[in-house]
Amino acid sequence: MASVGSLTRQFSALEVSQKQNGAGPTHQKKPSQNNVSKLLTKFAAPNPFPTSSSAPSTAIPKSTSTSSLQSKSKQTSRPASPAKPAAQQTIDIGRYDGGFELDNESRGEKVYGQAAEDLALDSSVSRIRPTREWHLTDFDIGRPLGKGKFGRVYMVRTKCEPHYILALKCLYKSEIVQSRVEKQIRREIEIQQNLRHPHVLRLYGYFHDDKRIFLMLEFAGKGELYKQLVKLGCFTEKRSSRYIDQMADALHYLHSKHVIHRDIKPENLLLGINGELKIGDFGWSVHAPGNRRTTLCGTLDYLPPEMVEGRDHSEKVDYWALGVLTYEFICGAPPFEDKSGHNATYKRIAKVDLKIPSKVSPEARDLIIKLLQYEPEKRIPLTDVRRHPWIVKYRSKSSSGSGQTAP
Ligand code: AMP
Repeated sequence: MASVGSLTRQFSALEVSQKQNGAGPTHQKKPSQNNVSKLLTKFAAPNPFPTSSSAPSTAIPKSTSTSSLQSKSKQTSRPASPAKPAAQQTIDIGRYDGGFELDNESRGEKVYGQAAEDLALDSSVSRIRPTREWHLTDFDIGRPLGKGKFGRVYMVRTKCEPHYILALKCLYKSEIVQSRVEKQIRREIEIQQNLRHPHVLRLYGYFHDDKRIFLMLEFAGKGELYKQLVKLGCFTEKRSSRYIDQMADALHYLHSKHVIHRDIKPENLLLGINGELKIGDFGWSVHAPGNRRTTLCGTLDYLPPEMVEGRDHSEKVDYWALGVLTYEFICGAPPFEDKSGHNATYKRIAKVDLKIPSKVSPEARDLIIKLLQYEPEKRIPLTDVRRHPWIVKYRSKSSSGSGQTAP
């Protein structure tokens, strides 16, 4: 077992390498999205880029032959008549501030060698689901959505019909290399592009140039869940219960694909245009068919005992994190947080030193206790989470069938 001191050093290093923009001052206040929300709710298809080539509104036709992939010739065929082009075109994407070009002049360098190969990421030559070839010039760029560790994110609209609204995220290759996360980023992108679930942020495609990688992401119209939590302090039990239901649904789906997320926390969750939860960050996820992992990762407050103690871990780490999330939503802070430092938090996690405030309802308390079990095998399964009285009590009729695992 690793010593407390060495763990603390590893966690500090991890925290430095984690994205640093949580609730910090770098966040810009977003303009009202009411009109955009209304339009997107009314007109946007839930899956703007269906993979079936027969779907009429497909904006990213799949390449059909190896030779067409290798030649990478620009596809000129227009998508078949789009379902709702006019509506998408009327959505105000806001004003572009020139951030991509400004950054590109002052930031980043070309990368060479193995790193350049690792980061030559292009969904048009993806082995599994090739898309059409994309370039920055294929988009009208709108307002800034935020800044991440490796670059900016903008609201964009495809110039080609049916003018889909997306979030375009830019990553600087040289900064990825400096942080030595080329493989991790590549893995994150590969994992996310193959996932399709209403509560998992879709990655529709990606492309790159000499210095940058661009990710075409589902637009999460209501932004970061973490910001809401900071603003409100905590959520009502009704709201918490609905988010946990959606999380359990998404995690069940991820685990069925052998993906363990390992970094569940409010900072990694976004909200869709209808306020629905979207898991939006796969930086620490592991595609682990059948094997158990011992790598240390994640943020201390959400780590389960088996990870802080350096034991093998499985998908049950996400069950624990769901328990921490339930507690934090209702109480406003994670259960094992200890202001005196990491060592103290580590010890509280290892002892499962859980104190639940009296304001928490008996049903929510029961679920938290059932998830925060020291022994991974004793944690309540996700399908039972979704049947738990605290979840069923608040589930609205319209939300019960959103995902794949509604009990
Ligand atoms: P990230 O690099 O993922 O940390 O993104 C930086 C910021 O951009 C986030 O904190 C969000 O506020 C915003 N953002 C990222 N992705 C999206 C998205 N798909 N939809 C809306 N906003 C996003």
